[in-house]
Amino acid sequence: MAEESEEVKSFKELGLRDELIEACENLGWKTPSKIQAEAIPHAIEGKDLIGLAQTGSGKTGAFALPILQALIDYVAERESKQGHKPDPVFFACVLSPTRELAIQIAEQFQALGSSIGVRCAVLVGGVDMMQQTLAIGKRPHIIVATPGRLLDHLSSTKGFSLRMLKYLVLDEADRLLNEEFEKSLDEILKVIPRERRTFLFSATMTKKVRKLQRACLRNPVKIEAASKYSTVDTLKQQFCFLPAKHKDCYLVYILTEMSSSTTMVFTRTCDATRFLALVFRNLGLRAIPISGHMSQSKRLGALNKFKAGECNILVCTDVASRGLDIPSVDMVINYDIPSNSKDYIHRVGRTARAGRSGVAISLVNQYELEWYFQIEKLLGKKLPEYAAEEEEVLLLLEQVTEAKRLSQMKIKEMGHNKKRRGGDEDDVDTYLGIKDKKSSKKLKRK
Ligand code: AMP
Repeated sequence: MAEESEEVKSFKELGLRDELIEACENLGWKTPSKIQAEAIPHAIEGKDLIGLAQTGSGKTGAFALPILQALIDYVAERESKQGHKPDPVFFACVLSPTRELAIQIAEQFQALGSSIGVRCAVLVGGVDMMQQTLAIGKRPHIIVATPGRLLDHLSSTKGFSLRMLKYLVLDEADRLLNEEFEKSLDEILKVIPRERRTFLFSATMTKKVRKLQRACLRNPVKIEAASKYSTVDTLKQQFCFLPAKHKDCYLVYILTEMSSSTTMVFTRTCDATRFLALVFRNLGLRAIPISGHMSQSKRLGALNKFKAGECNILVCTDVASRGLDIPSVDMVINYDIPSNSKDYIHRVGRTARAGRSGVAISLVNQYELEWYFQIEKLLGKKLPEYAAEEEEVLLLLEQVTEAKRLSQMKIKEMGHNKKRRGGDEDDVDTYLGIKDKKSSKKLKRK
């Protein structure tokens, strides 16, 4: 899945131990990805790293493998000195901006380190603190956390401290530096040892990332998996200029033209994800929404439906555009043009991964031209137009209008029912098949 390296042929040549090489083989990783090939030898040497790489580049392996190797070495060295296994330590901490990404990172650590019995704990918000406290009690080697929840545990969970930490990873550092996390991050940096290795990964190099790099890393080696704002050659990017009033109709037209593809449709608002998913369902398309408004379990439920192929259209906000490991998306549609052009790069990065081809189509209406031009400027090129005959598109108008009307009614009706019952179950989500387990239990009990 990740982009292959051109120079290095094997994981062995990177200096990895046999048990880790075997773990890579078990995951079906035949050769190191570019970022892995470049990062791992420096990391094994004990250098700090800055990696400019996106999800899909294999960056998790690039930091997880050297950390696991260091853990094996640490245990072996202590054992030979003390004559017995050392007490378990919180060896590495990975900070992630989203819960989903944290879970995926922990899964990769677990998979790569299963033969050495690595223990991981995921400390993220929106999940029961008690369960996480129990996980901390098992003395995990690796902690993958979102900053706020990690701080909560550091201040309230007895016996939990990162004073012995050896490795800190800041994943998606550009996103870790938004207002929401910045303060927590500062607090965390105060309570971990200065004598440690730090790996910082970021999709983009912003001023804030540079500042963090200076504050946090020592003589780091910089590695870039792809140039800053480039998109890969196998990605076919197009725009479709359309009148705002027919946007939905154009969208449905494109989706039906490419009906067998796996598609991510990006919208600006959470409400739009749900509304569009309902419209698509009413038209017989297999769509599921995912957005920041959904609970953790709902998001994972929706993502799993998409991953399993039960739904082939994921309607999402930018929350889903980064971090999530969603394999093989054939098409990305920008239903709303992102006002921040860098988000465009992240969005379209969900397709055309690892040498595969992919399509990205941006729907641009008369009000979004300015944003669209900014994107072209960032890409340094003009994009070709997606050819759609308006006459042909508007053949769908009646059906789409009816589907929208039904969806609006459904949302209104559900909102009304919810108010009347004062319940917390959300029938639109039930209808879309993304109700979380907790509320379904509640329903049954009624
Ligand atoms: P990441 O960028 O770390 O989120 O990884 C993206 C995907 O690439 C994950 O599904 C990994 O399992 C996969 N992957 C990572 N490294 C390799 C590799 N060397 N060969 C093949 N797939 C890989």
